[in-house]
Amino acid sequence: MLEYSALNVNKGIEQPPSTSNSAIERFKAVKRKKYSLEDYVNGILSGDRIILSQAITLVESLLPEHQVLAQEIVGKCIPHSGKSLRIGITGVPGVGKSTFIESFGKLITSEGRKLAVLAIDPSSERSKGSILGDKTRMEELSIDPNAFIRPSPTAGSLGGVARKTHESLILCEAAGFDTIFIETVGVGQSETTVHSMVDIFLLLMLAGAGDELQGIKRGIMEMADAIVITKADGNNKEKAEIAKQQYINALHLFPKTESGWIPQVTTCSSLNAIGLTAVWKIVSDFFEHVTKKDFLSLKRSRQAKQRMHETIQEGLKTNFYNNSNVKKHLEELENKVLRGEISSFAAANELLSFL
Ligand code: GDP
Repeated sequence: MLEYSALNVNKGIEQPPSTSNSAIERFKAVKRKKYSLEDYVNGILSGDRIILSQAITLVESLLPEHQVLAQEIVGKCIPHSGKSLRIGITGVPGVGKSTFIESFGKLITSEGRKLAVLAIDPSSERSKGSILGDKTRMEELSIDPNAFIRPSPTAGSLGGVARKTHESLILCEAAGFDTIFIETVGVGQSETTVHSMVDIFLLLMLAGAGDELQGIKRGIMEMADAIVITKADGNNKEKAEIAKQQYINALHLFPKTESGWIPQVTTCSSLNAIGLTAVWKIVSDFFEHVTKKDFLSLKRSRQAKQRMHETIQEGLKTNFYNNSNVKKHLEELENKVLRGEISSFAAANELLSFL
């Protein structure tokens, strides 16, 4: 009876361990290895991608000891940075950003350039930093020896994410990447942040889907140095050409840019690799234009100043809300304001006086 019971325990066959002990040891050794500041800097400057990735992980880390080391690494890399073409790429989800980055990126690396792709996606809790992180995206570019793809740092305030991305950009430049893409989803405020850290800003648009439908605000179109109408293939080809003309007309209405650059509009099909050389020509012409006018260094120094102020504001805000007296009295003063016992200004000033 017992031998047919479901509770009968049969003698098992001995199984070999699923992971060999030596592999575990090797993994532990890699994990255990702690690089010094010098190891990191030398590794980055010699173009070692593993060390570059680990340094970016430190930049993204919230641990104070990682932050200290990260700041030292960034500081040592700054003198070796600044030599890349910094290209911002934005557009609504589905416009074809990753397909474009894959095809356009391959064109760029085939010309012997070294490309790093970074992203800013602080707005989306949903994606949890999945922008560029989805393994099915950019299959070919991700194995290209001349390309380095780094997913967006997860969560955090826009200012915090922007700082991390900017510092990652410095590390990538120091590692010898001469072209940097910074991708962002064109639906929130992150475009403005990307705009403040790139030299040229490319806006990807769909044909035949009105601006409102694409959620593209006028301000974003004004920031664009070039508009690229995507998916110009098959039945969409004609629509793309019409859209191109419409955008050229629309851009005419915008005030002249400070550098004198006239924003360009072009169409492309990333899937068929058509029109990508035209995009590269626009990018090259842009850099020639702004370099000749000495506008590039002016733009970068202004951006640096702006970043400084943003960092100060972010820091002040963090200090304020972390202040023990503020923490103690914030709720009580909020309630007084709600009950109309004190004005908002008086309450704010009282809290600010704790700093
Ligand atoms: P993202 O969300 O902006 O990164 O957009 P994706 O690159 O993921 O593309 C969204 C969809 O558009 C995918 O189904 C792509 O295959 C498609 N797509 C992207 N580029 C092209 C193109 O050049 N032509 C056509 N026909 N489809 C494209």
